[in-house]
Amino acid sequence: MDLGLGGRIAVVTGGTSGIGMETARLFLEEGARIAICSRDADRVAAATRALGDRFGADRVLGLACDVLAPEAVTRFSDAVAARFGAVDILVNNAGQARMASFAATSDADWRQELELKFFGIIHPTRAFLPLLERSDAAAIVCVNALLARQPETRLVATSAARAGVLSLAKSLSLDLAAKNIRVNSILLGLIRSGQWERRYQAQAAPGESREAWFAEIARDRDIPLGRLGLPEEPAAAIVFLASPRAAYITGAALDISGGQAHQP
Ligand code: NDP
Repeated sequence: MDLGLGGRIAVVTGGTSGIGMETARLFLEEGARIAICSRDADRVAAATRALGDRFGADRVLGLACDVLAPEAVTRFSDAVAARFGAVDILVNNAGQARMASFAATSDADWRQELELKFFGIIHPTRAFLPLLERSDAAAIVCVNALLARQPETRLVATSAARAGVLSLAKSLSLDLAAKNIRVNSILLGLIRSGQWERRYQAQAAPGESREAWFAEIARDRDIPLGRLGLPEEPAAAIVFLASPRAAYITGAALDISGGQAHQP
């Protein structure tokens, strides 16, 4: 199936690692041009070089940008406009989870978590909207978590923030439908990306293999498919939802959790 992404321009926040980088790679495979950002300039340079070497440097733009800094996000959108002249797709992906119970979450932690989850969508959406409005196939995809519908006490602030962001994405889909800009979300379970690799490095017992540690996590979380997802699995869903092939889908939230969702 041709997704109709040839020549399209896609922006992926947090595109230097895990799900974001796989998404950028898939867009390139489908013939799109991409712009990625993340906070760490070295990681941005490495990811931009790796993707550029494989798909052509003229098709890849990378910029260091913290999505929580509105001026930086505006600079990013200006750079994308200057380089490509248009934007068709925005993937709001940048972020990470905060693993902590209610007792262990301070007011400052709550504020940081709510800020990351909300403004990680608000700033890029606001900055790229004028460009998206000019596209004839505009789409936004928000990377969210199953926690939005199925909170976990060990991730209390992330769960609450994720529920709010699900509501925000739905509101945006209604608001922007008149401009023919589609807005969809994906609801992730556990995906073996950079943040889970960091947890393995920090938490595994000495000598415990990666496979054994991840298998134990899958057992502990009772994942029906018996494993964590791989970054390319949500990436494929993101790329489809962002593509003109999903032209009649907006306001949807797709569960990608290996069967962890309790509701039908
Ligand atoms: P990774 O850690 O592999 O990737 C996260 C990316 O986001 C990195 O490129 C990171 O780069 C970037 N990033 C983080 N904060 C910011 C920021 N403030 N501004 C710009 N870039 C930022 O993790 P994932 O691929 O797992 O994460 C992708 C998304 O998926 C996140 O929103 C995460 O919360 C969500 N998610 C992931 C789940 C999972 O199990 N993996 C489950 C549920 C949701 P840098 O550090 O250089 O800024």
